[in-house]
Amino acid sequence: MYERKPQFECLVPLNETARGERKATLVIKNAKLINVVSGEILENTDVAVCESRVAYVGENADHTVGDDTEVIDANGKYLSPGFIDGHCHIESSQITPAQFARAVLPKGTTSGFFDAHEITNVLGLDGLKLMLEEARKTPMAAYMQVASCVPSTSAEFETNGASIGPKEVKEAFTWGDDMVALGEVMNFPGVVYGDEKMMGELEETLKAGRVADGHYTWEPDSVRLSAYASTGISGDHEVTTAEDVIARIRLGQYAKMRRGSAWHDVAETIKAHTEHGINTRRMMLVTDDRSPESLVDEGIWTLLFATPLNKGFTLSSPSKWRRSIQLKDSD
Ligand SMILES: [Zn+2]
Repeated sequence: MYERKPQFECLVPLNETARGERKATLVIKNAKLINVVSGEILENTDVAVCESRVAYVGENADHTVGDDTEVIDANGKYLSPGFIDGHCHIESSQITPAQFARAVLPKGTTSGFFDAHEITNVLGLDGLKLMLEEARKTPMAAYMQVASCVPSTSAEFETNGASIGPKEVKEAFTWGDDMVALGEVMNFPGVVYGDEKMMGELEETLKAGRVADGHYTWEPDSVRLSAYASTGISGDHEVTTAEDVIARIRLGQYAKMRRGSAWHDVAETIKAHTEHGINTRRMMLVTDDRSPESLVDEGIWTLLFATPLNKGFTLSSPSKWRRSIQLKDSD
């Protein structure tokens, strides 16, 4: 079982490793580091790792190398932080969180925001807890969301095994800091027109200091999308055009641009940046759903990166996209 220590337990070892008094677990030398904070590509950079955390980043990590340190010479290859999938349903890949981690980690995705609404629709909070507990045993950083719309329509249309309401949402947020959000709020008409259950779920979410994820498919207009965003729902992956993206971002939401097995939206949605000049800070790449075949064959990000690359991005594009270009070039 994988156990990642909280940062406060690692302060002394990280500090000692950075100075060289304690030897690193792993040192990667001579990398072209993609610094996602400064937006730079830093040549000839060394990184020293203590257990599972980065202790040192700089020109020369030799002082951290001991007899037991694994040393990898990157030989000028690009070194990047792990990729984060901003919205995904693991169940769509028809595998468990452990197998999902096994598929995505070697391809570079180390974290994800997961809405387990399929299993919750069958088993309720018990199903969500099973997903959470298994995900916690993997090296993947899994940030879980409590499904907001269970059943996804109504009991007249489906044979759901459970129901989720404000009480269940409140309970799920007591399970730990990795229960980060209310899952995609698909009942957008309910939110727009003030449905009591949806308002109750959103209230419990905000009370617990969490965020709510969105799912809004009406055409953007001057009233209804604002009513939806006014409840604190801060992201939406139902954007399929540049206009959809612009409308979300203007209201302060994150536009989550999809490239999964079923949705190939990025070629259009990215025009919000390439043709309309909208800042990419609130644009995210997400998969939503991946079939097991494409998960194994393509990884999560290969196609996502290929799409903007094919749309004429240059190195003068904002750093977020520059990163993806550099990664592609380093293949
Ligand atoms: Zn989704």
